[in-house]
Amino acid sequence: MLKENLMEVEKNIALACEKSGRRREDVTLIAVSKTKPVSMLQEIYAEGIRDFGENKVQELAVKYEEMPKDIRWHMIGHLQRNKVKTVIDKSCLIHSVDSYRLAEEINIQAKKKGIIAPILVEVNIAEEESKFGIHREDAIQLVEEIAKLENISVKGLMTIAPYVENPEENRQYFRNIKQLSVDIAEKNIDNVTMHVLSMGMTGDYMVAIEEGATLVRVGTGIFGARSYNKQ
Ligand SMILES: *Cc1c(COP(=O)(O)O)cnc(C)c1O
Repeated sequence: MLKENLMEVEKNIALACEKSGRRREDVTLIAVSKTKPVSMLQEIYAEGIRDFGENKVQELAVKYEEMPKDIRWHMIGHLQRNKVKTVIDKSCLIHSVDSYRLAEEINIQAKKKGIIAPILVEVNIAEEESKFGIHREDAIQLVEEIAKLENISVKGLMTIAPYVENPEENRQYFRNIKQLSVDIAEKNIDNVTMHVLSMGMTGDYMVAIEEGATLVRVGTGIFGARSYNKQ
């Protein structure tokens, strides 16, 4: 069943790329495996998926140990400063940096491990009360401040769009954050590139790709609905 789901998602990604004149290899599918058992991750791994997304540090750490080492783990959830040290050398990219204080802690832990941590700045593009992420008007300043931290490399932006029935409603937000990333890139800030745009989930990843997403984060579309009470 997961194989069929994955094929469907792959077909949709190819369609969206074709529609917007983008190359398939410029978009990476992240399988968001939060709450799902390792057996399901293995099934998807066997189909060739190497990018997995988790939103909780502890869960990522456990799966990191149990799964093959060639997996790229993406930390996509809200990150507390005291958990940075656990995830810093296990994730290939932290998508959810939305404060200077968090960035400072990432910088400290990265320095300890002797690595440069790649991160995305999370923007609350629709300014929803319930969501993490900084507001668009504060993004450039935050990027400029983080850029001064030696052991961090800013690779782009991430956003979680609102939950909507019709994905077209989110097109404006995807377009806005793409524009923001272009504006930031034009500032030519040392230590900062804007090649990565992490946006689009099961409900809206095709629209996100049409508007420039380079990473799409798909959970339900691959693994089926999550049931939190079983956890
Ligand atoms: C859970 C989650 C996703 C995946 O959501 P689906 O709607 O199941 O595809 C994507 N991004 C983040 C940050 C998430 O927490």
